[in-house]
Amino acid sequence: MQSVEWIGRLFLDLLKMTIIPLIIAAVISGVASLGDIRKLGRFGGLTIAYYAITTALAVLIGLVLVNLIAPGSGYENLPATVPGDISGKETTGLTEIILSLITPNLVAAAADTQLLPIIVFCLIFAAALTTTGSRGAVVINFFIGLNEVMMKIVLWIMVLAPVGIFAMIASRLGQAGGGEAFWQEIIQVGKYILTVGLGLLVHFCVLLAFLHLLTRRGMAYLLGMSRALITAFGTSSSSATLPLTMECAIEGGVDRRAVNFVLPLGATVNMDGTALYEAVAVMFIAQAYGIPMGLHEQIIIFITATLAAIGAAGIPQAGLVTMIIVLTAVNLPLEGIGILLAVDWFLDRIRTLVNVWGDSTGAAILERYLPEDREARKTAD
Ligand code: ASP
Repeated sequence: MQSVEWIGRLFLDLLKMTIIPLIIAAVISGVASLGDIRKLGRFGGLTIAYYAITTALAVLIGLVLVNLIAPGSGYENLPATVPGDISGKETTGLTEIILSLITPNLVAAAADTQLLPIIVFCLIFAAALTTTGSRGAVVINFFIGLNEVMMKIVLWIMVLAPVGIFAMIASRLGQAGGGEAFWQEIIQVGKYILTVGLGLLVHFCVLLAFLHLLTRRGMAYLLGMSRALITAFGTSSSSATLPLTMECAIEGGVDRRAVNFVLPLGATVNMDGTALYEAVAVMFIAQAYGIPMGLHEQIIIFITATLAAIGAAGIPQAGLVTMIIVLTAVNLPLEGIGILLAVDWFLDRIRTLVNVWGDSTGAAILERYLPEDREARKTAD
């Protein structure tokens, strides 16, 4: 197991190495090439609306399935303590999500790979840049050049992808095979895994259908994205996968301006898989504790799961922590998270894959709403 682990680690580190310069260059050049602030506002608004609608849809699918299957009813072995990873994080709330948009220290945020405040800064920076006229042109050109260099590096790293992904998955499966707790949990919470898995599959197919209906792309695009999707499964991190997602989308023929704007934003705020999982997990906990959740509570779950997914970072098991927001909103015991812990690493991989698929379909669908601006398109290419 250890003999292959380092190869996966090397691949992951190479990807992570590119993230910060890549998103800075991509977002600034992407936004600047959209033209003036009003066009940016319209496209940005559509992107956020698209993300909000698809995330809400994912939660809805999760809620319908969890009500139909009721995976938590009859569950015993309720844990008595709040898991160590979670305790101390009870303060995670909506205010924290809003505050996390802005960082007082860009360098520290970059060092911690906190992408959201960096993206917000790049958006503000690029918006200001578009108002500076010819003086700003040299800065825009610099970021366009930097973006090209970074994408070239990603292309080189992609050569390692098959071996890197294989090594990551193999070493994780090696660990899981040895963990008795994992298999015991699989049996105990099998219905829960099934519900989350089925929901994610349904949502994945719904997005594919949208893509097919709204663009001429379909299976071919899915196949083209497969390297990014498998990497998402291998890394459990939308952020670490971002460089590959961008490269695959460009290879899939998506306009670079859409790729540069929609994907970095999506990797940090658009998490359909996480939202669906949080809704199912919270309902599962309620069912396990025998606490009834009426329509009113389920509406609260619907809203807070959507927000909690937006607040989750694109890193492994971030959704497990932001689930606190949903649990607290409907007064469920945080101890309940303990039931889900042993199998979470596995579900995390599948939901990350769906998160990345949600971003990828978003870029392909939103591309058609880009401002029609030949000059801008030329600069972006
Ligand atoms: N690991 C997920 C991602 O990076 C977030 C989560 O659901 O924990 O997209």
